[in-house]
Amino acid sequence: MTSEERPREDRPREDRPQGEDRPARPPRRFTGRRKVCRFCADHIPGVDYKEIGRLRMYISERGKIEPRRKTGACQKHQRLICTGIKRARHLALLPYTLEHVRKTGIFPVRG
Ligand SMILES: [Zn+2]
Repeated sequence: MTSEERPREDRPREDRPQGEDRPARPPRRFTGRRKVCRFCADHIPGVDYKEIGRLRMYISERGKIEPRRKTGACQKHQRLICTGIKRARHLALLPYTLEHVRKTGIFPVRG
């Protein structure tokens, strides 16, 4: 029995081709399916300012017009929605402010 006293091999660790630390991927913030424009989905070409039920979904609780990133409406329809809401407001079909919401009792529906 010989106790071989060999010097420790001080060679650098082999670089594994797959073992490279990959950059951490940012976590997915949005999961699930993408929002689609309701108007496009229902094949409605225009926006009717008299259709309060539909327009209500595009205003916030405070009566503000919701941004596109929340409603998921496409560029074309968001523009029409915006005009439609403004027309409806002018005809007192939709509230301008929270004060109007309280007085008229027309509550926007969250879409
Ligand atoms: Zn659309």
